[in-house]
Amino acid sequence: ITIYFGNAENNNLIPLIPTNSVDPNTIFANNEMSLRDIEIYGFDYDYTLAFYSSHLHTLIFNIARDILITNHRYPEDLRKYEYIPDFAVRGLHYDVQKALLMKIDAFHYIQLGTVYRGLHPVRDEEVIAMYEGCHVPLEIMSDFYGKSSHGHTMKQFMDIFSLPEMTLLSCVNDFFMRHNIDYEPVHLYKDVKEAIRDVHVKGIMYRAVEADIGKYICYGEQSHAVLKKLSEHGKKMFLITNSPFDFVDRGMSYIVGKDWRDLFDVVIVQADKPSFFNDRRRPFRRVTDKGTLLWDRIHRLEKGQIYKQGNLYEFLRLTGWRGSKVLYFGDHIYSDLADLTLKHGWRTGAIIPELRKEIKIINTKQYVHMMAWLQALTGLIEQMQVHRDPASQAVVEEWIRERDAMRPQTKDIFNSQFGSLFRTYHNPTYFSRRLSRFADIYMSSISCLLNYNLQHTFFPRRTPLQHESPFWPEHTLAGLNVSSQLHGNKAESK
Ligand SMILES: [Mg+2]
Repeated sequence: ITIYFGNAENNNLIPLIPTNSVDPNTIFANNEMSLRDIEIYGFDYDYTLAFYSSHLHTLIFNIARDILITNHRYPEDLRKYEYIPDFAVRGLHYDVQKALLMKIDAFHYIQLGTVYRGLHPVRDEEVIAMYEGCHVPLEIMSDFYGKSSHGHTMKQFMDIFSLPEMTLLSCVNDFFMRHNIDYEPVHLYKDVKEAIRDVHVKGIMYRAVEADIGKYICYGEQSHAVLKKLSEHGKKMFLITNSPFDFVDRGMSYIVGKDWRDLFDVVIVQADKPSFFNDRRRPFRRVTDKGTLLWDRIHRLEKGQIYKQGNLYEFLRLTGWRGSKVLYFGDHIYSDLADLTLKHGWRTGAIIPELRKEIKIINTKQYVHMMAWLQALTGLIEQMQVHRDPASQAVVEEWIRERDAMRPQTKDIFNSQFGSLFRTYHNPTYFSRRLSRFADIYMSSISCLLNYNLQHTFFPRRTPLQHESPFWPEHTLAGLNVSSQLHGNKAESK
């Protein structure tokens, strides 16, 4: 199906836009991959098998905020700040020195209009003055895993758990600025980071989730159905998670049932990814059901047992599960997937829960119209700019203004502060670029696997490279028409 814009006489000026909507349960391929070749399926736990409701973000935000007040002596009035569910998106960068949260594209350019100090946007001119343009040099971007270390002042937030962290940082910045308090942004960043870490490390979050599991874990049945399906097809399965055994046991018992361990050939907890994939020295250690650590040397990884830590080199040696017959699913593109793709040759599947919401928006009539019109305008501008006479230039200027006015709408439709996780206007985001490098396939949830036969091959679309396709559809016959119409108008106006 195609739709047409405008009235009859300029029908042929506008590119034809397909309106077939995208199914949010689709598995998308960056790289060709056949499930036929996959014998072993590996999983991360949090946000891969266990999907959490938004209550968890509110919980993390509240606990971390209270830790700041109680343990770090932050002002009591901070308690007035509540979690703002739709404030931040994943993959944003935070300038630790300047206390600015922003979105950066695949070419390291800041997307103007997405730079926030506290809870308020910073004017474009100010951003340009601060960064002497919009480009952020590689040396100050966070390291490979998105962590900021010495000299890196731009930290990227890649974790789904970092949504409450970004929001808390913004709220505290907002509070200090609103009250004209002279504070050091670097200290604030570290304190918030520590408070958020304590929510996990001190087990506060684990206990809260365990106490009311039905409130926090959603879509358990679907995860269970996926595991059952794979098991029925004789696939081997394993779990590698950074979470502690008690927490995973409680969650998996809720999702699958008490006998969940029967489904898995190997279970690794507190793996400490991404170090797990890199550090050859750390041995596996067996943990009993009661959480007792045993001291015996591990000669094989046995079904039904629980192991802690270890490393991937040892895992490969003990299991023999090498190369492209293994597919590992995780939601963290860096700490779950990057090393597997780059160093170890396993196939990788990224779980991106945000996809479901973004696809829903992409499927709306409003979005399809906006995109079609924006593309058409861009095409017209590109073609018509060659006519240097004043009348033609005036028309082109008008189109440029219209395009500039439209572009923020294509951002706001996803999230009014930061837009889509995947695009900065026409460019892919920094997040998108790394997603396409580190994940063979990606999907909104593990349950998408239920829609595919285990013999299925995923083929990426052959999208044309820039030099492989004509610039705009109207380059052909219709383009000539625009051109002659314009000249006609010019003649009349003289
Ligand atoms: Mg995870």
